[in-house]
Amino acid sequence: MPRNILNLPDYAVLGVEEAEHDYHIQAEAILPPTHCQYCQSADLVGFGRREQLVKDLPMHGKRVGIYVSTRRMKCRACERTFSEALPGVDEKRAMTTRLVDWIGKSAIKKTFSGIAEEVGVVEGTVRAIFADYVAEREQHLKFETPKWMGIDEIHLTKPRGVVTNVQNNTLVEILRDRNKKTVADYLFRLPSRDKVELVAMDMWVPYRDAVLAVMPQAEIIIDKFHVLKLANEAMEKTRKSIRAELDTKQRRGLMHDRFVLLKRTAELTDQEALLLDGWIKNYPLLGEAYRLKEAFFGIYDAKSVDDAKRRYRDWHMSVTPALHPYFADVIRAWTNWQPFILAYFDHPVTNAYTESLNSLIRLMSRVGRGYSFEALRAKMLFAEGAHKHTLSRPKFERKQLEPVAVEETPRWGFYVPEMARALPDEIGRMPPAPRPAREPSTKTPKNYGADLSTLARLIEDGEL
Ligand SMILES: [Zn+2]
Repeated sequence: MPRNILNLPDYAVLGVEEAEHDYHIQAEAILPPTHCQYCQSADLVGFGRREQLVKDLPMHGKRVGIYVSTRRMKCRACERTFSEALPGVDEKRAMTTRLVDWIGKSAIKKTFSGIAEEVGVVEGTVRAIFADYVAEREQHLKFETPKWMGIDEIHLTKPRGVVTNVQNNTLVEILRDRNKKTVADYLFRLPSRDKVELVAMDMWVPYRDAVLAVMPQAEIIIDKFHVLKLANEAMEKTRKSIRAELDTKQRRGLMHDRFVLLKRTAELTDQEALLLDGWIKNYPLLGEAYRLKEAFFGIYDAKSVDDAKRRYRDWHMSVTPALHPYFADVIRAWTNWQPFILAYFDHPVTNAYTESLNSLIRLMSRVGRGYSFEALRAKMLFAEGAHKHTLSRPKFERKQLEPVAVEETPRWGFYVPEMARALPDEIGRMPPAPRPAREPSTKTPKNYGADLSTLARLIEDGEL
């Protein structure tokens, strides 16, 4: 049971007044100071009191102000006077420390203005507390530097750089912007950045230049997804320009054309294939664009860099003058980024998280309004329950059951050579798996960052 209405055991409540929106609570510290804060002498006398207003956690939906009757003391040894230190109070902020903690945590889930109103402080105070909270969290939360890094983009009021761990599908950092300096500064401060082997990214020059400057050992790979997107966009441009020339009746004949044209041939249903066939007969340019789009996707079936080069060369030669304007972006991207696009065929790294990241982007643009960049960043990076850990020691293994009694000397009763161990016994039972030698370890678990699909689910469920 709480000792008093405040549930602050170091304080005695002297009076409670309840108003429409607020509680006004009179209180004092139970124990007076015992030593001089300057000379540690115990020879103190009271020197009057002063009232200090301290904000506390909201209670029963009302704001809480504690009016602490603070003792002033005089030291007989050094003659100096001082106010008693208040336990559990952040005196600089005139708040209980539990309120400071609560504001810090809440600012991840609620808007600054909402918290300011709930507690009865100004928004600037909430912002300052939140900045301290984030700085403190960051001291404790260190993500592993990804061996395979992804650099992407997310729109939070404006485009921001997103750093991911490609192998673990986790979010590692959100950068204020996508400038070379911002990215390079971040990479430069990264612990063991020389261990980063691959960086998968979009065709964004500042990303590339930052990586080349700061992590020259890392191989840059243009994400397959971003390259193929260009081919889909070329398909779309062609489709739109053809449609623009048509009358209403003709357009009706092209129902669901976007959906069908962006599908891969192998994924078309019989009905869709039939539709496509008809359109191609009526609009040969559309058919040609579809063929070109599909052929471009086919480059990614290549088994080696040389194979990919060859496929691209053939593809490029097959672009007709009529379609060239629509596919110009694809060609330009390939030309400008060739070594990095081709690097994929040496290291076929794909982002399993692209879909999660996209839904995250969509969700954040919906729920992100009213939040500062810092809050959105912290929301995602510090999301409770989203972090992906590994322990540097093996998982807890349940105690093994005693093997059932067998007539003969059990095979696993003594050392069994590796080959014999995998054989079932006479009645078809497999011997227990050998236990690995275990080394007790006290190392802290590694944290790989916030899991992207968990994040998307948390936001979807309104838990973030
Ligand atoms: Zn003193």
